[in-house]
Amino acid sequence: MNLAEWLVRSAAMRPDEPALLRGTSVVRDYRGFASRAASLGHALRARLGIAPGDRVAIFAANSTEYLEAFYGIWFAGAVAVPVNAKLHPREAAWILEDSGAKLAFVSENLGNDLTPQMPASCREMIDLGSAEFTSACASDSLSAPVSRGRDDMAWLFYTSGTTGKPKGVMITHGNVHAMALSYFVDVDPVFSSDAAYYAAPMSHGAGLYNVQHVLKGARHVVPESAGFDPAEIFEDAARLRDVHMFAAPTMVRRLVDAAKAAGIDGDGIRTIVYGGGPMYLADIVEAVDVMGPRFCQIYGQGESPMTITALARDLVASRSHPRWRERLASVGIAQSCVEVRVVDAEGRDMPAGETGEVVVRGAPVMRGYWQNSVATAATLRDGWLWTGDMGALDSDGFLTLKDRSRDVIISGGANIYPREVEEALLSHPDVHEVSVVGEPDPEWGEAVIAFVVARPGTSPSEKLLDGHCLDRIARFKRPKTYRFVEALPKNNYGKVLKTELRTMLAARPHREDA
Ligand code: ATP
Repeated sequence: MNLAEWLVRSAAMRPDEPALLRGTSVVRDYRGFASRAASLGHALRARLGIAPGDRVAIFAANSTEYLEAFYGIWFAGAVAVPVNAKLHPREAAWILEDSGAKLAFVSENLGNDLTPQMPASCREMIDLGSAEFTSACASDSLSAPVSRGRDDMAWLFYTSGTTGKPKGVMITHGNVHAMALSYFVDVDPVFSSDAAYYAAPMSHGAGLYNVQHVLKGARHVVPESAGFDPAEIFEDAARLRDVHMFAAPTMVRRLVDAAKAAGIDGDGIRTIVYGGGPMYLADIVEAVDVMGPRFCQIYGQGESPMTITALARDLVASRSHPRWRERLASVGIAQSCVEVRVVDAEGRDMPAGETGEVVVRGAPVMRGYWQNSVATAATLRDGWLWTGDMGALDSDGFLTLKDRSRDVIISGGANIYPREVEEALLSHPDVHEVSVVGEPDPEWGEAVIAFVVARPGTSPSEKLLDGHCLDRIARFKRPKTYRFVEALPKNNYGKVLKTELRTMLAARPHREDA
């Protein structure tokens, strides 16, 4: 079951085909990719004291070496612990300590910042751009991948912590197999001529998605520039052709704005898989209008990596379907390797159309949280993963997400789903971005607060936005207070950090005292 076997297999079938590219330049073919990873795996075991099951962290920006590090770790039978490169070194060090990583692969600048914080358990740090890494990848002694079982851990995935402290999610080789096979069936087929383009950080789902492209012997492309640059993506895609990429909703928005401004439709990009956070209806409608049938949606979470439901490309693009908008507002139907239900607090199925918690069972579901039996027992119950997401299934099995249960605002005894309020506000032309949270309120229990980023050149008033909400949603759901801000706090996937918004609210003087 070792995922490194997939690389060995592709190298045997397509040794001379391009595997790793920087921009449009080929850096390694499949023979080179596999032999460097095998050599690195050997060095990890023979020289660096890594045993099967040991954790090895990667705290680095996207690079072709990042992918070699993944497979080197898997060749050695060890567990990859990718750490978000945008974290503060103290936060990264916390993950290194929590995971017990013995070694960390780093990029130069990140490594320098990490050094003073390094926990004692992490004995060594190897720069992915160093001579040491090159020599570890160049040994003559190649080893076959260490044998791994379905339940052996492959990836220790730290949740982004948008709702609290990150937790280590134990993802096994079997989980990733299921995710990859389900991708071909439910999301999009992959061909050896395709190019997987890493515009999003490899430390998250986009990095995990490399496996299906390795299995099919496709190209892996790391853009030249470090940031997310739509112009570069369009230019590269036009030359590479058959590009697949994962993009979080904010990234899709930036691509669409850039395509619109340049009068192009993203020729060369075959598939943009979006998900990882809510995509507002107006945004995906515009995306399809501007860029055409290139989009598929997935809904997943670290605990069932990228695999809960999917909305296939033809459904995203089928404008003429009478229920097109309704389906676009959903996250699609259960992927083929999982069962998805919507239940009440006791685990009883909710009738179609009614909201409850989304629970999932199937091959991609995690083994549990790393060294956190309390959180595991609360989340994995009777074989089902309780996602913490609230949603409703329609009679055809399409799931519409409302919000995370922790984000639901209870005001005057009524449940208010922030997403519905956000959708209403976003439909105002002066609103560029918005995030809605609840704030403790002595009278109502919680009050609805909207953080609004105005579209450049506009300054919408509270009165204007309140009138707009009154025309669209129930009175009790309207924000009680608006806070106009320059930008919303986000992680490097562009996901709004609601915990930070709540902290901002808690830190300011209480309304009555202000
Ligand atoms: P933490 O669990 O630490 O709070 P996180 O929420 O960022 O971190 P991830 O695993 O990165 O955890 O994100 C998964 C969550 O993102 C899902 O539970 C769901 O709330 C949301 N999500 C994922 N895909 C979609 C989608 N297509 N539409 C709406 N929301 C989505």
